Amino acid sequence: MIPTSLDWCRAQDAADPLAHCRDRFDLPESTIYLDGNSLGPLPRGVAERLAHVVASEWRTDLIKSWNTAGWVDLPRRIGARIAPMIGAKPHEVVMADSTSVNLFKVAAAACRLNPGRTEIISEPGNFPTDLYMMQGLTDFLGPDYVLKTVPRGEIMDALGPNTAAVLLTHVHYVTADMYDMQAVTDLAHKAGAMMIWDLSHSAGAVPVDLNGANADFAVGCGYKYLNGGPGAPAFLYVAERHLEVARQPLSGWFGHKAPFDFVDDFTPAADIRRMLVGTPPVLGASALDAALDAFTGVDMETIRRKSVALGDLFIALSRERLARFGLECVTPENPRVRGSHVSLRCDNGYAVMQALIDRGVIGDFRAPDHMRFGFTPLYLGFEDIYRAVEILEDILARETWRDARYQTRGAVT
Ligand SMILES: *Cc1c(COP(=O)(O)O)cnc(C)c1O
Repeated sequence: MIPTSLDWCRAQDAADPLAHCRDRFDLPESTIYLDGNSLGPLPRGVAERLAHVVASEWRTDLIKSWNTAGWVDLPRRIGARIAPMIGAKPHEVVMADSTSVNLFKVAAAACRLNPGRTEIISEPGNFPTDLYMMQGLTDFLGPDYVLKTVPRGEIMDALGPNTAAVLLTHVHYVTADMYDMQAVTDLAHKAGAMMIWDLSHSAGAVPVDLNGANADFAVGCGYKYLNGGPGAPAFLYVAERHLEVARQPLSGWFGHKAPFDFVDDFTPAADIRRMLVGTPPVLGASALDAALDAFTGVDMETIRRKSVALGDLFIALSRERLARFGLECVTPENPRVRGSHVSLRCDNGYAVMQALIDRGVIGDFRAPDHMRFGFTPLYLGFEDIYRAVEILEDILARETWRDARYQTRGAVT
């Protein structure tokens, strides 16, 4: 049994080795932010960095800053900072584009490294853009290519001599189900397929060991647990053994071996830069770079330990206090197969979440009926979890979610 008393929560907070990290974020007063898995909050230092980039690097130094402020190196420098968080070598990771675009590039590269095989395997219910991008890619590659979606558990049987690549999201965006990266990558490799991992809900939240698992490619998000800000640039990983041979079709000039030679013919860069497309977004990249300072001196194992404890507490409290309202946990209780968020199935979940947000507890809603709560150890404490469930219980008991103003859906949920 997991203790769930307020006193126990306070004792956990008092002994928390990450408690000091909360000051690394500029969080609004009286808000319990349980949505860092969707948009990380503002780390301190980001606003100052952006002000400096605008006022000094852009306004004063103008175009000189590509060299003097190192703008041109931001993609590789930021990639190298993300690398240790995902078990990669610094030169295997680069910041680039959006996760969606990176999915297209790495999957195309994976297919090209596996000629004669024309099938990409993923799972039904994967994050929509992952499936949509693969539908677009297979359509573009020609009539032989197909995307096959198979439920987890059946992937082993689906793999075959025609499988070019397997694309899976390490931590599922709704259920938080977490794959055994090593075991699944081994299966893909035994079948001769390339393994691509989407780390959008993993990077910065759970320890990842891409090198240890021998993964071929990976992509991930900059604005979720990495706190890079709305629309922050994403990242991608290419295993060292593929760096000199991987080719992707969006062969823009920043992927050229000498962009400033201005020659007519494309020759890819010899390193990870061949995965770049065009001019990097300097403002967004600078924000992400400054945001990564929030992880200084903190290892992923410590983050993981607290994330599991916060999730365990939330699950135990929701069983005690929310189950009687029909709320059902769709996230595995076993932390070995659980990421860093928990989803509760709830009738009228959208309205309940709006009522909760109105009370200062911010989570989000994923159609058709899931309320999602993210646990981010750098700025959340145990008492925060206790209070969040207490407020949710009150909303359900008093049915305040029935108020008309909680019923209309915004464009973004
Ligand atoms: C958040 C998320 C994305 C986001 O892709 P964008 O291109 O940034 O919109 C992609 N895949 C997964 C699994 C995600 O969770």
